[in-house]
Amino acid sequence: MAHGIPRPVEDADSRPFWEGCREGVLRIQRCASCGRHVFYPRLLCPHCFSDQLSWVEASGAGRIHTYTVVHRAFGPFQADVPYVVALVDLDEGVRMMTRILGDRSSVRIGARVRVEFVEADEGLVLPYFRVMDEATAS
Ligand SMILES: [Zn+2]
Repeated sequence: MAHGIPRPVEDADSRPFWEGCREGVLRIQRCASCGRHVFYPRLLCPHCFSDQLSWVEASGAGRIHTYTVVHRAFGPFQADVPYVVALVDLDEGVRMMTRILGDRSSVRIGARVRVEFVEADEGLVLPYFRVMDEATAS
């Protein structure tokens, strides 16, 4: 656990997401008007501008869209370089920036990943992902 990392602003729009992370549940929004999922948290649907967004539990599974390996820490709170930053496309159709845990040799574009919740700082739980075993990935 790293102390003093920059923290997200937890506001009325994003609080259910952060509460979900602390509970080990990946929550995203879904629009009742057009049926599409929405991430990051917001007030209006970016597809149809409806305000009929509600919170749903995501599957926690997705696929790596792209990634990079960070070798240089950008703050004193980051001692754990190198690490992988990725854009993950959840099965629900939304894209999330995250970190990929585990063996870097298994990280590749298109790899199936599953969410794991990590307490990155006291009270700050972040949704990271790990590449699934080939046998269980689907
Ligand atoms: Zn919509």
